[in-house]
Amino acid sequence: MNVPMLDLQAQHETIKADVMARVASVVERQQFIMGPEVGELECQVAGLCQVPYAIGCASGTDALLLPLKTLDLQPGDEVITTAFTFFATAGAIHNAGGTPVFVDIDPVTFNIDPDAIARAITPRTRAMVVVHLYGQMAAMERILPVAAAAGLPVIEDAAQAIGARRQVDGAWRMAGELGHVGTISFFPSKNLGGWGDGGMMVCRDEALATRLARLRLHGGARQYHHDEVGFNSRLDALQAAVLLAKLPHLANWSAARRERAARYDRLLGEVPGVVTPVVDPANEAIFHQYTIRVPRRDALREHLTARGIASMVYYPVALHRQPCFAHLQPIAGGLPHTEQAMAEVISLPIYPELTDAQQDAVVMAIREFLA
Ligand SMILES: *Cc1c(COP(=O)(O)O)cnc(C)c1O
Repeated sequence: MNVPMLDLQAQHETIKADVMARVASVVERQQFIMGPEVGELECQVAGLCQVPYAIGCASGTDALLLPLKTLDLQPGDEVITTAFTFFATAGAIHNAGGTPVFVDIDPVTFNIDPDAIARAITPRTRAMVVVHLYGQMAAMERILPVAAAAGLPVIEDAAQAIGARRQVDGAWRMAGELGHVGTISFFPSKNLGGWGDGGMMVCRDEALATRLARLRLHGGARQYHHDEVGFNSRLDALQAAVLLAKLPHLANWSAARRERAARYDRLLGEVPGVVTPVVDPANEAIFHQYTIRVPRRDALREHLTARGIASMVYYPVALHRQPCFAHLQPIAGGLPHTEQAMAEVISLPIYPELTDAQQDAVVMAIREFLA
C-alpha cells in the first residue's frame, strides 16, 4: 500500500471551493502586495495565539530573522538554541550577525533542555531561540524565568507548533504567546500551509510589533522614508487568501492528528524496540510529526520504502554537526542526547486524512521488520 508522508491533494479536495473563491477574489482585485487579506489573516492568527499583534512576512525563516535583527547583534554576540531543529533556526541567528550556541535537548520530548540553557549563559549571551519541535511546546515556564533572570529575550520558533498549547500556572498558553516574539511558518508541509512560502511573527509589545512591521517593508513605515535598513519580506495576499480559507479547519485537523497519533500509540506501544513519542502532560500537541525511536533506524527506513511507505528523519545531521557551523566552539560536555536522537529517530506518516488501512500498513511493516 502506498502511504505518503503527507497528502495535500486529499486535503485540497475537502476545501477546494472555499480556497478557490478566496484566491479568485484576490485575482479580481489585483492587489497582490499588502492586500486586505494580509491584515485579516494577521488578526485571526493574533487571536489564535492570544496576543494583540501579528505581522505577516515572507517565510518562517524571515519570521526568525526580523526579530533577531532588532537585537542589533555585534560580532561574538551569542544566541542560545537547540541543534536538533530545522536549519533555519540557527541560519537566522547567523544571518542576523549572531553566533549560535547549541545546547542539548530533553531526551523525552526532544525539546531544548531548560537547565542546559541556564548553564550556557555567558556575558556575551544576547537572546535565546526556543523551538517547539514536532508540534509540542518546550517547557516555557522553566525557560522564561531563566531568561528573565539574565535579562534575555526569548524567541519562540513555533514553525511546527501553530495552535499547540501548554498549561502554565493553570491556564492554557499558546505557542508563540509567552516569548518576546513567536514565529510561524506557512510552508506547504506545515500544519497550516500555504501555496508557497509565507510566515508570521506574533508578539505582545506594541513598539516591537511596529518595528517588525517596518522591517518587513525595507525599514520604512511610510513609503520612501526609511528609518532603518530592512528587508523585502511581505506575506503575499494570495498566500494570505489561501491561509484564510484553511485556518477555520486547523483545530479539526490538529484534533485528527492527535487521534491518529493516539492510534499509533496503541498499535506501536506493544511492539518491542519501538519508543513512541511522549507528550508532556502539560502539553496539547498538534503532531506536526509523529516521531519514534527505533534500533537500526536506517535499515527500517529502507524496509518501509520498499513497501511504498514514506518516512523521514528529522534530523539526520544536527546543526552542531553541519560543516558551516564546524568552526563554532562546542559546548562543554557535548550534546549526547542530540547525538542519540539523530541516530534513532524516524518520523512516520501523519496527517488528518491518513486512513486506518494506511496506518495499519505502516504498523505491520514496522512489526515485520522488528520481529
Ligand atoms: C519550517 C521551519 C522553519 C522555517 O520556515 P520556512 O517557512 O520554511 O522558512 C524554521 N524553523 C523550524 C523549526 C521549521 O520547522
